[in-house]
Amino acid sequence: MTTVAAYAAPAANAPLERTTIERRAVREFDVLIDIKFAGICHTDIHLVREGWGEAIFPMVPGHEIAGVVSEVGPGVTKYKVGDRVGVGCLVDSCRECDNCKAGQEHHCVRGAVQTYNAIGRDGEITYGGYATHVVVDENFVVRIPDGLSLDVAAPLLCAGITTYAPLKQWGAGPGKKVAVVGLGGLGHVGVKIAHALGAEVTVLSQSLRKKDDGLKLGADHYYATSDPKTFEELAGSFDLIVSTVSAPLDLSAYLGLLKTGGALVNVGVPEEPIAFHPFSLIGGNKILAGSMIGGIPETQEMLDFCAEHGIGAEIERIAASEINQAYERVLASDVRYRFVIDNATI
Ligand code: NAP
Ligand code: ZN
Ligand code: ZN
Repeated sequence: MTTVAAYAAPAANAPLERTTIERRAVREFDVLIDIKFAGICHTDIHLVREGWGEAIFPMVPGHEIAGVVSEVGPGVTKYKVGDRVGVGCLVDSCRECDNCKAGQEHHCVRGAVQTYNAIGRDGEITYGGYATHVVVDENFVVRIPDGLSLDVAAPLLCAGITTYAPLKQWGAGPGKKVAVVGLGGLGHVGVKIAHALGAEVTVLSQSLRKKDDGLKLGADHYYATSDPKTFEELAGSFDLIVSTVSAPLDLSAYLGLLKTGGALVNVGVPEEPIAFHPFSLIGGNKILAGSMIGGIPETQEMLDFCAEHGIGAEIERIAASEINQAYERVLASDVRYRFVIDNATI
């Protein structure tokens, strides 16, 4: 065991503060990662505030981890000291079920082990990326391509894969009209990826405040959802809508923006249920789907795709002492577009 510095929430809703945690000694197939940067995902805030139910405290959030390998176990074959690597939302799974074998470890039927706020298969509580180091089995580590800086790569480990997976699954590409709802951490990466895939991209944001940014990120069109005319003008327009909104949304209205047979994929996880009227779904044979992060092979594929297309997150680098203020700004939709902690400041 090694004692390392970390930022933790001591209890639900409490501000995060500097502390120390124990990291396990490196086992046969483990790598020790010197964490350089950790993104702040809205999920971190939902969990610290117990917005989705009871959580484990103290909690060290962080599942957008980018760093450098500083030690490897004797059985490790994929990585060596000095490699640039990332860790996302999961650090283990059963590795035997059909989903695990298919590279869908995040859908492990026995339950994937989340990077933090979880109990590992060894019975130990997991702690996330707001720390100086983490120890992870090499099979749950991905390689960050040389073309990507570690700071802008960190958010791809959650925001990147969470938007890449549904865009790929639902055929975003040339000739397709894709809308991204919410221009926050997930949404802005989703816009970049959908554009790189060749789709015609529209941002649906609460206001036009971030319009210039959205167009620079690769959107072709930008509309304010606070304007009721938006829903009239865009009725029946989209092949695919990806909603990244962290609050309950009037899904019936958004389903109305789909073409016949179009799909609305929800990736946002509000703290309350979302209602919609079935007529908005049956009229036009619409599809309402969900998507949760992605497996390890697809996460690597996403990173390689992003490196090839020069896609990194737009970030505000912060010191660890600014985490609590950053949380407030995310809650106020005042993030441009991902806060990334410089872990040297922990
Ligand atoms: P974020 O940076 O806060 O972005 C969310 C965006 O949603 C905001 O920037 C805002 O965009 C919009 N929004 C917020 N409140 C709204 C409201 N009341 N009405 C309409 N729009 C609103 O959050 P994030 O990190 O991207 O995460 C988004 C959600 O996805 C969270 O619930 C998170 O837990 C979830 N998530 C899910 C997965 C998954 O696997 N499915 C993975 C990661 C995160 P505008 O200002 O442009 O309107
Ligand atoms: Zn996340
Ligand atoms: Zn499994």
